[in-house]
Amino acid sequence: MNVPLLDLRGQYAAIRGEIDEAIGRVVESQYFILGPEVTAFEEEIATFCGVSRAIGVSSGTDALLVALMALDVRPGDEIVTTPFTFFATAGVIARLGARPVFVDIEAETFNIDPGRLADAIGPRTRAVVPVHLYGQCVDPDVYTVAAGAGVPVVEDAAQAIGARDADGRSAGAVGLCGCFSFFPTKNLGGFGDAGLVTTNDDGFADLVEILRVHGGEQRYHHRRVGGNFRLDALQAAVLRVKLEHLRDWNEARRRNADRYRALIADAGLDADVRTPVDAAGHIYHQFVIRARNRDALRNHLRDRGIGSEVYYPLPLHLQECFSEMGGSAGDYPVAEAAAREVLALPIYPELTEDQLGVVVDGIASFYRGT
Ligand SMILES: *Cc1c(COP(=O)(O)O)cnc(C)c1O
Repeated sequence: MNVPLLDLRGQYAAIRGEIDEAIGRVVESQYFILGPEVTAFEEEIATFCGVSRAIGVSSGTDALLVALMALDVRPGDEIVTTPFTFFATAGVIARLGARPVFVDIEAETFNIDPGRLADAIGPRTRAVVPVHLYGQCVDPDVYTVAAGAGVPVVEDAAQAIGARDADGRSAGAVGLCGCFSFFPTKNLGGFGDAGLVTTNDDGFADLVEILRVHGGEQRYHHRRVGGNFRLDALQAAVLRVKLEHLRDWNEARRRNADRYRALIADAGLDADVRTPVDAAGHIYHQFVIRARNRDALRNHLRDRGIGSEVYYPLPLHLQECFSEMGGSAGDYPVAEAAAREVLALPIYPELTEDQLGVVVDGIASFYRGT
């Protein structure tokens, strides 16, 4: 039995009628950019996330970029973030000529360590960008430390739609704004690229809305230099359908995570792999274990038809494009150890009990040499 890392065809099969109807509605209207579908999606997702405003944009990367543009981030500014994330988090900072300042992560959660945050904030810091990695929200102390320093928080919530933090607050509803991605593989995925900015700050929301359309309220009159960060109506229509199912899907991911923890413990594998801590509010965009001899385990699983992936093999301070910043091995040891040890297992909602068993049997056979 093959177990792919992710199989979106099963999800589509389950909701095909609703999706096809929504797509047909947009095609009939011939209204493809922004418009009523996008507005309806923005209202529905604002309610879902518990915020007053949501602005649909072209991707998760553009959500982060437009948020930092709205903060008027410029060359010479510093943005504090994690070195253990998808590249886009730091890429948008560099694109604006600003400098990412990294803070090491916590070993347990893989998220930015609030205990190390204050030391990284200085006079040039314009924002803190924590990432709710794998669908687990950052420690609420991150917001306390940033607020104490008077620095706004831009949440990279790309992997965390529907997640809640230790204080029960929704991802994207705590900082100045939240930035979401609807890349097809995310828990809420479009049929192409799409993203969103959430906020409770009306002034900030208004600014993001104009930056999304080249910086002007009135057509052909430009208050600021923005970009084309618009969301497609087709994506909004698909995402509206999927949003109705998101709570159930996130719940199914949590059930799968519980099953993995039980199966891995029952198989006596606790000395070889470490499962993620069961935090309330985690939505398991990824189920990431730490594994002894990770790369060989991954090859073994691949040979048995089991998908897995390494998010992420190289921390950002060691990326070639940031070499002039002078980062070197040993700077962020917790992130570097994570990069050597992490392995994401299949966790998508449609996985069957048999498939979960096949994955754990595959891991057991590797460590037992069978
Ligand atoms: C997916 C992702 C992004 C970027 O989203 P895109 O929609 O692919 O541009 C940014 N940050 C994190 C943590 C992500 O996982």
